Amino acid sequence: MNPTRLALGVLGLLLALVACFALGCSVDGPFDRPPTIDPIDDDPDDDPDDGPSGGSIPCITIPGATSYLSRVLLDGKDVLRFTKSVITVSMNTDKAPRGWKSEYAGYVREAMSKWQGAGRGAYTFREVTSSTADISISWVDSLGGYTTGVTDHVIVGKQFFPPNMRIAMYADGSRLSDREVRITTIHEFGHALGFMGHSVNTKDLMFVSASVVDLSLNDQQTLVSLYCRAADITQVQARSAEVPAGARLIRQESQRDPSWGLPRGE
Ligand SMILES: [Zn+2]
Repeated sequence: MNPTRLALGVLGLLLALVACFALGCSVDGPFDRPPTIDPIDDDPDDDPDDGPSGGSIPCITIPGATSYLSRVLLDGKDVLRFTKSVITVSMNTDKAPRGWKSEYAGYVREAMSKWQGAGRGAYTFREVTSSTADISISWVDSLGGYTTGVTDHVIVGKQFFPPNMRIAMYADGSRLSDREVRITTIHEFGHALGFMGHSVNTKDLMFVSASVVDLSLNDQQTLVSLYCRAADITQVQARSAEVPAGARLIRQESQRDPSWGLPRGE
């Protein structure tokens, strides 16, 4: 066959294939793939989780930091953490006590921003108004004694129900300063994310009587240590799941240091 006719033949075949695709004719073989459907997901809260390793991040080492992971594992051994990529947060301001201030909501958003950054992509927070949020926050007059904040986890088997966070406006008979409410709010987020205990270092945000507003390198390293490991206890997936009998309540607090002088303003 002469080269010109061969070239024309190949060109003709290519044109026929292009026309075939354009007109939608059926072609057997490697071109004929089943259609893929991208589901439209308008509710990130319904994302299926990826199992115990979902949302995990690399186990990096932060220079100069020391993890206190052993102090925050449940019962000293179990990793309790979220395994979903979007963690929804709701603030219950309807029943907030008299004296509640909009700044308090700002502290929640500050906490979300700081803990999301420290999570290095393990999860993102989303503020919602739903009562079925992954983390629910409310404010109360008092939690008794020196307690400034409480986060409750209800655990059943290998799952925990959405943690419930309460922030006090009074402790030991006096109003918390804005700075105390701010520190308490950011501190309690650490518990909600899975810190089942405290640092013993007074400079860490997760010290029981924290006095800083930023996560220390140790706090960040401990969060990484938690979220780079497979979870032993993960969040309940079903929204309507009811707490069965035999549930275990794990309560984490933050406290006003009784030695602090008052008032403790900014
Ligand atoms: Zn605490």
